[in-house]
Parts: sequence; structure tokens; C-alpha cells
Amino acid sequence: MPRPAIDLFHEAFGAAPRAAASAPGRVNLIGEHTDYNGGPVLPIAIAQRTTAVIGPGADGDEGVLEAVSTRDKQVVRVHWQEALPTGWAAYVGGVLRELWSLEVIPPNGSARVALSSEVPIGAGLSSSAALTVAVTKALAPNLKPRQIAGVAFRAEHDHVGVRCGVMDQTISALGMRDHALLFECASLEATQIPFDARLLLVDTGKRHDLSTGGLNQRRAECEEAVKRLKVELPELQWLASWPAEWLPRLKRALREPLRSRAVHVVGETARTRFAAQLFQEKKLRQFGKLLYESHESCRRLYECSSPELDTVVAAAKRAGALGARLTGAGWGGAAIVLVNKTDKKTVPAIQRAFERAYGRSAPISEVHASAGAHTERL
Ligand code: ADP
Ligand code: MG
Repeated sequence: MPRPAIDLFHEAFGAAPRAAASAPGRVNLIGEHTDYNGGPVLPIAIAQRTTAVIGPGADGDEGVLEAVSTRDKQVVRVHWQEALPTGWAAYVGGVLRELWSLEVIPPNGSARVALSSEVPIGAGLSSSAALTVAVTKALAPNLKPRQIAGVAFRAEHDHVGVRCGVMDQTISALGMRDHALLFECASLEATQIPFDARLLLVDTGKRHDLSTGGLNQRRAECEEAVKRLKVELPELQWLASWPAEWLPRLKRALREPLRSRAVHVVGETARTRFAAQLFQEKKLRQFGKLLYESHESCRRLYECSSPELDTVVAAAKRAGALGARLTGAGWGGAAIVLVNKTDKKTVPAIQRAFERAYGRSAPISEVHASAGAHTERL
């Protein structure tokens, strides 16, 4: 659906674009805050996508990026080799720098980029990775999906400075229609698992911006936990690699809040691998129970939930949904709810509970597993 981005490109630059690509947002079924700890995740790519339309820079421009988004339609002009400005154009500048280091674009290369997106920003659906993956695919359509994920990850992590893991960019680049992806973030092993469950997405309307705040703090806590646990197990590289049967030893070795953070990561790692197996065997009821457990662990131990998310999950549970939990980093954003195909009670129950608590409605939609990044015809 490149039309809005194509129109914007013409409007902003008075020229015709050369290429286009789109990439999806994602929801993560289970495996929260495990990615940057070297554990497993189980995301699906969603139908909402970000489209990037690109063209060469203006005549005479060298090393200049001009970027515009349907979000505010303001053209941002960036010398992408120099210090990147704060704001969203830094994500695009980061992609240019990474493509330059792979020698896909020359050091004095210029580009114009117009973006449109259906992925809500800061809703926990990974609008940031949809953006970086779409821009990478548009500028470098011949890179392999894993290379695209790498470029997009480093753009956000190394250049924008969000200490994210590799999950969002990986699913956005590798996603397959009607499949979930079990992805081991340390070994980078990827397994596509058929997905035909009925999954609801509840947007709490509370937004986060991950380039500030809680996520970076949690990452620092996890790093500190690994440092201390290395005294016990010198070969430990990732927090998620701590053996689950050694939890008592871990609890003795760490103080709060590091203890709770580490217990979440180690527990969530085991839970996610088990959940993926149950999902493959279509044991949705048992799988759903693990979703509830995951939410509880995020809420109590990792402290990344919010009252709105807790309201949704509690209402889903009371209504008899198979499972529910926050998805994405948390601190607001969206929750997923797994329901039987014939379920009619859960949606109105969540709506009632949310309206009673917050005096406004929370939009609820169905999620379908969709395709990863691809080029778009102009
Ligand atoms: P999310 O969970 O949506 O990925 P993040 O905080 O990681 O939340 O990323 C949101 C940021 O990504 C925004 O603040 C903005 O800088 C950038 N962004 C995402 N989509 C767009 C877009 N369509 N136009 C401009 N900026 C965008
Ligand atoms: Mg993001």
C-alpha cells in the first residue's frame, strides 16, 4: 500500500521516487525481555505495515538525507555522517550509516525518504523496527532478510541509542504469513511455526517512547546481574543461559531488584521454549496458561506492566479467555488475548472493565500473522 508515501514523496520533494518497500510491526506471543538477554522469543508479524518510498538526493547534495513522514509532513534534512539529530530521522540516518559500512551506498551518498505507516507509534507493536526494516529493504532490496534485520537492529541500537534486542527487526524482516517465529536470540536459530489461533490485540492507548526510560534501566540491571553471577559461573555470557534448576543459587547470589529481574528472565526463557512446543502441538489451553504466567512475571518481577494492562489481563481471565499478557516492552502499549474461535464473551467483558476503570474505550482488533518485509511496486 505505498500510495500515501508516494503522494507524500511527490508533495515534499517535487520529484518521482525510484523504489519502495514495506515492513510489518509485530506482536510477541511470549518471551518478554528475553531477547537482549540471549533467550528465546515467539513473535508474529502483523498486518499493519510501514512503507518507505525512496529516491536520490537533490542535484549537488552530498551526504545529505532528506526524510519526511506522513506523521507531521515536515522535511528533516540531515548530514547523516555527522552527529545524528534526536527524533525519528535518526533511525533513517542510522540505516544509511550501516549501509555505508556494508558498502551498499557510497560515503557521500544522498537520499530522499518518505514514510507512511499503519503501525501505531509507541503502542508496543514495534513501529521503530517497521520503520528501519522498511527503509533498509527500500534502499538495499538485494540484502538477505537476516542482513536487513542486522542493519535495522544496529541503526536503532548503535546509532539511535535504544538498547533494544534483535527480536523486532528479525520478525519484521523474516516474518511469514500464517506463521509465528521461534527465535533464539543467542544462537540466532529461527524456526517457523504454523499459526492459526484467534488472537486479540487490546490497545490501552497509553504510549511509551523507548529511547528514554525504563528499558535502558532494565538492561543495565540485567548486565549487572550477569556480572555478579559470573562469580558463580564464570562462563556465563547471557542471563538467559543461567540453568533454570539453579534458581535457588541465583536467588542467594543477587539482591533486589537484580534478583527479581534475573528470576523473570530465567523463568521466561524456560516458559517460552515450553510454550513454543505446546503451540506446535496445538495445545492452546496449556499454552494460554503460560501467557498468564508470563504476564504475572512481567508485572511482579520485571515491573514493566501498567495498571491499564493489568486491567485488560484480569478482565480476560475472568471472562474465561485461554490466555492474556502484555506484549512488547510494556509500561503501557498493548496486550494480547488468546481466545477460542467461538468465544463471544471476552471482547465485551474487556471493554466493560476498561471503560469502568478509565472512562474511555480500548480499541480491540484481531491479529493475523502476516508477511515480513518486501519491496512494493511504484
Ligand atoms: P515502538 O514500540 O512503536 O517501536 P519505540 O519507542 O521503539 O516504540 O519507537 C517509536 C519511535 O519510532 C517514534 O518516537 C519515532 O521516532 C519513530 N517512528 C516510528 N514510526 C514512525 C513514523 N511512521 N514516522 C516517524 N517516526 C516514526
Ligand atoms: Mg521499538
